[in-house]
Amino acid sequence: MSVTVEIERRDSRPAKPEWICPSCKDGARLADVRGNLFVCPYCGFHTRITAGERIRQLADPESFSELWPFVRTLDPLGFTDLEAYPDRVREAQAKTGLAEAIVTGSATIEGNACVLAVMDFGFLGGSMGSVVGEKLWRSAELAAAQDLPLVAVCSSGGARMQEGVLSLMQMAKTSCAVDVVNEAGTPFVAVLVDPCTGGVVASFATLADICIAEPGAKLYFSGPRVIQQTTREALPEGFSTAERNLELGHLDAVVPRKELKTKVGNYLRLLEGGDTPERRDTRRARGRSKRGLAQATADGARAIAALAWRSFVGGSGEAPGPPEEASAREETP
Ligand SMILES: [Zn+2]
Repeated sequence: MSVTVEIERRDSRPAKPEWICPSCKDGARLADVRGNLFVCPYCGFHTRITAGERIRQLADPESFSELWPFVRTLDPLGFTDLEAYPDRVREAQAKTGLAEAIVTGSATIEGNACVLAVMDFGFLGGSMGSVVGEKLWRSAELAAAQDLPLVAVCSSGGARMQEGVLSLMQMAKTSCAVDVVNEAGTPFVAVLVDPCTGGVVASFATLADICIAEPGAKLYFSGPRVIQQTTREALPEGFSTAERNLELGHLDAVVPRKELKTKVGNYLRLLEGGDTPERRDTRRARGRSKRGLAQATADGARAIAALAWRSFVGGSGEAPGPPEEASAREETP
């Protein structure tokens, strides 16, 4: 008599976790990590998040309204390495669902109205090309025109090599954008998140009135390997981390992601000063300064920006262009 026995083979290994921490390698459920704002529940490692997730975390619910989503990069140099530049851009767009490495718009943070610009490292390494410069510029102009604070979340690998020197020009353009905000007397808060390097850290990201970073974020102009190869010296412990930058006085604070929204909200409230008589006097003084020397500075900055804009950024036919923004600014008292 033959007997058939069915044996079920069970894998003795535990099921693969949904999420593994890149730092401590512990596994966790994705829902738990999401609930913890994508910070590792075990070691506190702050993972990189998309611009969309950042906006969800930072802006009040339903308050974010995107501006200038149709500004597109052109290919002014006809750049091709292993792949043509337009193809790389299209791939990045398909991968991230974004048009460019920065998302800009108006929002409220803890009830404080502001202009919010958020960079996404997932889009070609958050590199700063002509469109990133242009959208940051427009954000600054809008903040100045409407007397709103500017909040920028900066994450970048630096310049966009496919745009060559035009990418480097964005350092000057975005620095001028900060000038426009300064001259208008509106606050600028920058949040540096991992990694923030190269041309972005060397321009607008570190020119803010308040400059804060997330724990463990890598912040530097040149990478440790490049410096080590050049100097042939060992680098100090904690080189380029947010904590080290705070020690050296480059930052005002290192703020865990969980506290970020409250902290930025507090900064905006403190810098805006509420609607007191002093505040109203300050507004009037700003109005006067805008029409004086400050206006000349801002006009100069705008002329440089226009130079960087004209030939290299596309898509103005689909979206409000710079002339509209400029006229909006002139109408503000
Ligand atoms: Zn961890």
